[in-house]
Amino acid sequence: TTGKPDIPREKSAELYEKSKKYFPGGVNSPVRAFKSVFGTPLFIERGDGCYVWDADGNQFIDFCGSWGPLILGHNHPKIKEKVSEVMQQGMSFGAPTALENELAELILKSNSLIEKIRFVSSGTEAVMSAIRLARGYTKRDKILKFEGCYHGHVDSLLVKAGSGLVTFGETSSAGVPKSFADETIVIPLNDRTAVEEAFKQFPDQIAAIIIEGVPANNGLLIQDKEFVQFLRDITQQKGSLLIFDEVITGFRLGFEGAAKHYGIKPDILTYGKIIGGGLPVGMYGASAEIMSNVSPDGAVYQAGTLSGNPVAMAAGIAQLTELLRSGFYKDLNNKTQEFVESIQRFTAAKNYKFKVFSIGSIFWFAFTDKDIKTAEDIDASSMEKFKVFHRELLNRGIYLGPSGYEVGFVSAAHNKTELEKTKRAIFDSLDIVFRT
Ligand code: PMP
Repeated sequence: TTGKPDIPREKSAELYEKSKKYFPGGVNSPVRAFKSVFGTPLFIERGDGCYVWDADGNQFIDFCGSWGPLILGHNHPKIKEKVSEVMQQGMSFGAPTALENELAELILKSNSLIEKIRFVSSGTEAVMSAIRLARGYTKRDKILKFEGCYHGHVDSLLVKAGSGLVTFGETSSAGVPKSFADETIVIPLNDRTAVEEAFKQFPDQIAAIIIEGVPANNGLLIQDKEFVQFLRDITQQKGSLLIFDEVITGFRLGFEGAAKHYGIKPDILTYGKIIGGGLPVGMYGASAEIMSNVSPDGAVYQAGTLSGNPVAMAAGIAQLTELLRSGFYKDLNNKTQEFVESIQRFTAAKNYKFKVFSIGSIFWFAFTDKDIKTAEDIDASSMEKFKVFHRELLNRGIYLGPSGYEVGFVSAAHNKTELEKTKRAIFDSLDIVFRT
């Protein structure tokens, strides 16, 4: 039994019929296809502030925010203005521009973790380049990653755990050669023994450990500081590098991301979409010494026609300038905490098996009563409840990413009124989920 009638979806359905002719699954990125929730994809027409409108004219309060980058909300006037101004001068030169310096200066002045950076055009590219740099710098080939962390669709990271505690990984996508997966070790999060075992089994072979600043792609798997510190210490002892993939957490938990939150200095950091304020930008950075290995200074080749694209740089300058305003993160994080706490109070009073995990302005709704720290802790059958929840929320004008494994984001554009409305919708939807 569902509480509310389904929203109209005729126009979206029509567009989907067409898009299926053009794109595999009708989409240009898989999760958009709504495969793990009810219905078919909504085609979005417009966004403004914390709202989006679909092709059928349905209005939603959006907590996906283009999967994270829209920390100021949709269509922010300052970003629009800066982008329009820069666009008048041309859109790409494949040559250096002053805008790249300007954005780099904004970032490096307020980030004590990195001394030199390279702009790229996506998170995937940032991670791929960081891995190559780690391998080139250490002259070692193996990478250690954690089950439950996503680092983009890089060949060597589309790898899942094998059967033993520490084994070579198995590819998690067709088309990734087994020999690539053999260079990637995959172990569970929050497991020191497995990390120690990996270094024993592969002495002097591990170029780097890569971990998401806070794993946020398979639920929100918040790690204890002790575990992260342990990774810092053991990589240092063993001559490996520590890579923090901050594509979600960078400029989100705070300007300096998860590394600053934990008080830990990784060797290489990757950042992504949030820098571009909605346009394609990624970045990796490290000490000047490590970065001197990148071409044309060093032997690690990495390039990109659209890297440092002026229009994308313009969006970045406008967005990051706003993020640097005093009190920005404090307000955003407090607002999120209040939102999360009042949901938690409601579900506790009703004895619902439901938890909200959150850090900064990131949250994750889980149908569980357990503390969840690893991918294994997540009960896959609980996703049936998420499906109902997602549908009820859509029907009440609330847009969450279309999978129970995805986190949500609060932006500066979510005001009290919208957050109150969202809470009411969540309460009513949960009443329905737990009635069925
Ligand atoms: N790393 C992390 C931690 C991510 O969350 C993502 C995507 N959300 C990526 C890398 C890949 O970024 P992109 O989708 O921009 O290639």
